[in-house]
Amino acid sequence: MSNSKYTKIVDNTGVKSDVWKHYGLPVVDGKIDKTVAVCKLCNADVKRQSNTSNLRHHLNKWHPVIRVSLNIQAQSFAIKPSNNTL
Ligand SMILES: [Zn+2]
Repeated sequence: MSNSKYTKIVDNTGVKSDVWKHYGLPVVDGKIDKTVAVCKLCNADVKRQSNTSNLRHHLNKWHPVIRVSLNIQAQSFAIKPSNNTL
């Protein structure tokens, strides 16, 4: 089975966030489904929330190389206190 269950994906125009460079909106029965975003890299559909954190999380987890080019809030990931007081 292919993991691309969507036959057509369109760009989400009107959004400024960089993450959308790597996502599209699926077209289902001729209508754009705006409840999910489809990763252009692996065709996974990611449930959308009111912000893009879900989409960023997916890129971070599965496509970490993308994070560099997107400059995704590096500080919030880098500054993670590890309870290690060396
Ligand atoms: Zn992906």
